[in-house]
Parts: sequence; C-alpha cells; structure tokens
Amino acid sequence: MIIESIELQNYRNIEKLKLPLGEKNNILYGDNAQGKTNLLEAIFFGSTGKSFRFCKDKELIHFGAEEAHLKMILKKKGISHRIDIHLKKNKSKGVAIDGFPVKKSSELFGLGNIIIFSPEDLSLIKNGPKERRRFIDLELCQLDKIYLYHLSMYNKVLQQRNKLLKELYFRPKLEETLFAWDEELVKHGKMVISLRRDFVENLRKKVENIHGEISGKREELLLSYEENVSEENFSLQLEKNREAEKKQQTTLSGPHRDDLSFQINGQDIRHFGSQGQQRTAALSLKLAEIDLVRERIQDNPILLLDDVFSELDQKRQNFLLEQLGNLQSLITCTGLEELVKHRFPIDHVFYVENGQ
Ligand code: ATP
Ligand code: MG
Repeated sequence: MIIESIELQNYRNIEKLKLPLGEKNNILYGDNAQGKTNLLEAIFFGSTGKSFRFCKDKELIHFGAEEAHLKMILKKKGISHRIDIHLKKNKSKGVAIDGFPVKKSSELFGLGNIIIFSPEDLSLIKNGPKERRRFIDLELCQLDKIYLYHLSMYNKVLQQRNKLLKELYFRPKLEETLFAWDEELVKHGKMVISLRRDFVENLRKKVENIHGEISGKREELLLSYEENVSEENFSLQLEKNREAEKKQQTTLSGPHRDDLSFQINGQDIRHFGSQGQQRTAALSLKLAEIDLVRERIQDNPILLLDDVFSELDQKRQNFLLEQLGNLQSLITCTGLEELVKHRFPIDHVFYVENGQ
C-alpha cells in the first residue's frame, strides 16, 4: 500500500500543503522545527485518527485557527481510498472514508498499516512498561479489529471499575455492583491477553532471528510476553485482590499491567542491558514488526522514519535499508550528506521550511 498524496490545511505549523508522494523512499529534510515531524504525524493521524505524540486533537490545529483539514489518498491493492478529517477546536473530529462519514475515528484502523519508527522507539527497551504495551496495542489495533474492540471495551470497563473502587470508600454498599464489572473486565481482558500472546509469539521468532543477524550471533535475545495475570487465573485473582483493591482504590491485576521482557544470556536487558544492547533489541523489534505486518496483510505497510537514520551506525543502517525493500517510506533528516555518503537509494526529496 502507498499514500498517493496528502493535503493539509492549518495542521500544526503547516498552513496549506498539497503533496504528492513517491512510491518508495521520500526524504524530508530541513532545519529543526520546520515541520518534518508534523508531516509524519499528519500521515499517522490520517491513518489511525490518533497522534503518535500523546496529545489532544485540538493541539493539532494551527495556533490561532479554529479548524484544520486533512485529506489523504491511500492506495491499497490497486484501489484508491480517500480519507477526510475535519478538526474543530471545541468539537470532536469528523472523519469520512471514501466520502462516507464514519461514527468513530477508530474505523480508520486497519484501512492503512503504518509503522512509525522514531528515536523514542530506540528507547523502547529502557523505557517503562507503558510504552511497551503501547507498542503492542498500536500494532495489534491496526491488524485486528477484534483486538481493537476488546481493548477499547476493556479500557472503558477498567475506568468505570476504578471509579467505583474510589466511590466504595464513601458508599460501601456499592460493593454489590462490583461483580458485574468484574465479569465484563474478565470477558474483554481474556481476549486481550490471548491475542497479545499470539502476537508476541509470532513476533518472537522474527525478533530473535533478526537480532542474531545484527549481533553476528554473538548474543542470543529472548523475547517474552509478561502476563500480569493469565487468562485462566484472571477471575480468581480479582477475588483474591478484593480487599487490597478496596484499600488502594484501583484495579491491581489485568492486562493493563502486562509487559514485554527482553533477556540476553539470562540477564534482563530492560534493567541491566548496555545502551547498545537495548538499541539493537529495539531495532530488531521494529524490523520484526515490519516483517510480521507484511506477512499478515500480504502487502507492504508504510514506514515513517523520524530522525532515526542519524541515530544508527553504518551496520545497523544497512539492516534497516535491507528491510525497506519495496515499501513506501517517509524519512526525515536534517541534511542529505549522510544519505548520499551511504549511497542511499533516494526516490523523492522534499525540502521542508517553515511548514512548506
Ligand atoms: P526537528 O528537526 O527538530 O525534529 P521538525 O522539522 O521535525 O524539527 P516539528 O516537530 O515538525 O519540527 O515542529 C515544527 C514546529 O511546529 C515547532 O516549532 C512547533 O512550535 C510548531 N507547532 C507545533 N504545534 C503547532 C500548532 N498547533 N500550530 C502552529 N505551530 C505548531
Ligand atoms: Mg522532528
């Protein structure tokens, strides 16, 4: 799949832009703070209805403007689809696919498959479990609508249940209603756990192989899914935690506390890995993700590389280059020297200045 073109109006510092994209590597270069990441963010936003920067929709609107518009043409298996998003300051956003308005922006998930790779991803191993869960969720939501449904239901129920646990302090009688929430939490939570388990299992083999190649087989990486609680024990664990949860006024077990673990020679590299080991593992994870998505959708995902090239040494750059193959990528950097030096195959180059 590819993005044929994107049009923006009052999106962050991009006041007006109409940009046709090349089918392979698109390089966006320019000084700092000119709008390169903003453009990648817009593409990600157009494909998922979410920003990868953890921000509110209204922050995406150009300072001082009341609304913003995005129009994107995505070509998938030979068919072009049009995505329109209309952002307003004090209203929820309007989304249309092929000219038809959709109720929830999450309906965009799965239409496009976008993989974003930024310097923060290179810190995925040393960051906290929240970032690693986000990595799994973002990918799985694009790949599997059933996962998207159960995860959003789980999060809703979890929020309600936590609210109730806080209210119990003032109104102990409400405890009777907790059981109804437990049932829902377990129902959706079990699906989340089981689909995450499959996903990580498929990813595991790929990550471990790729890591072996990058490290020249000197080190062996083990990736595993750390379930906070297993599907089978979830109900029982909730019962066991009842008193502690009432005291702490929050849900103590469930997939909202899952993690991914990375081990090399029996050592947990989240805590004990060197910076190089952590980065190699993170790169392997991202490369494996591309491979897995390609396999699942029988098509190429679109890759957004935000400032990562300069962060990798020659050997790691080569591995990344090999994976790029035929897929469409948008690559940001501040200068072209590095790319030219390494004979990077460039398809289209765009110079970005002041949102233009
Ligand atoms: P770098 O090379 O440093 O990563 P960049 O080209 O990727 O730079 P961006 O992150 O795209 O830069 O941001 C460019 C500018 O966009 C920043 O100066 C920021 O102040 C501005 N900006 C962010 N949000 C808005 C907004 N809502 N309205 C107008 N400008 C904004
Ligand atoms: Mg940037």
